[in-house]
Amino acid sequence: MTDAARRLAEAGVESPRVDAELLLAHVLGVPRTRLLTLDRVPGDAATRFADLLDQRAGRVPLQHLTGRAPFRHLELAVGPGVFVPRPETELLVEWALARLAGLPEPVVVDLGAGSGAIALSLAHEHPGARVTAVERDPGAVEWTRHNAAARRQAGDTPVEVLAGDMTDPRLLAGLDGAVDLVVSNPPYVPDGARVPREVADHDPPLALWGGPDGLDVVRGLLRTAARLLRPGGHLGVEHADQQGSALPVLVRGHGGFTGVADHPDLAGRPRFTTARRAGG
Ligand code: GLN
Repeated sequence: MTDAARRLAEAGVESPRVDAELLLAHVLGVPRTRLLTLDRVPGDAATRFADLLDQRAGRVPLQHLTGRAPFRHLELAVGPGVFVPRPETELLVEWALARLAGLPEPVVVDLGAGSGAIALSLAHEHPGARVTAVERDPGAVEWTRHNAAARRQAGDTPVEVLAGDMTDPRLLAGLDGAVDLVVSNPPYVPDGARVPREVADHDPPLALWGGPDGLDVVRGLLRTAARLLRPGGHLGVEHADQQGSALPVLVRGHGGFTGVADHPDLAGRPRFTTARRAGG
């Protein structure tokens, strides 16, 4: 295991030991904690482990190799074609759930749903919520659908999945002025920004890149959110480390929102902006 971890460290993997352990646990089909009491790895498992280690050293994301991404209380299926959900986005969900508290059947829209991490977590943790997950990337929306079907089968409140563009002025027109919460982890990485190889080579470009300042898609998102939200309805949008002032400025500049605030993640970095639809 020490050799495996060293190999990943040399390849520039950020958490080499944990990744090596998780890959071995995956191959053996046991939780990582069980590795402590393991004295022997059967030959075929050792071969599979070596293969996965090679791929991880080639900077294939850990979650693509295990096929799973933990997010809050769920485990989402992920792989080529879909953005791997990140732990920092869990806080946006935490914030959103607090806004929904006390609303028996809130109407919720997740714009740019990817794996469905946000939408499916909200449905799981606030079962009365009527959640629609919107995804424009034809490859990614297959994953949204797959995960939504799995959660429905597991007994969660169904989430509606819609193939659509969050900047489309006609998107979900039937919900105009009727939505309690719009939440989004949009593509916000400024064009040309340096991102880890796992991200650059394996996350879908449509989920990442947001134009020169990273906020091109967000501009369209704000118009859609303003149209969909009822007066007093809530908006929560994740952003990049450097956008902790720029996004609040953009939301205030729109004119249709009040109570604009920015929130840090657990590492203390500015992570998401929230606001309410004016007129409530
Ligand atoms: N936070 C992501 C990253 O680490 C970017 C996500 C996004 O653009 N929505 O690259």
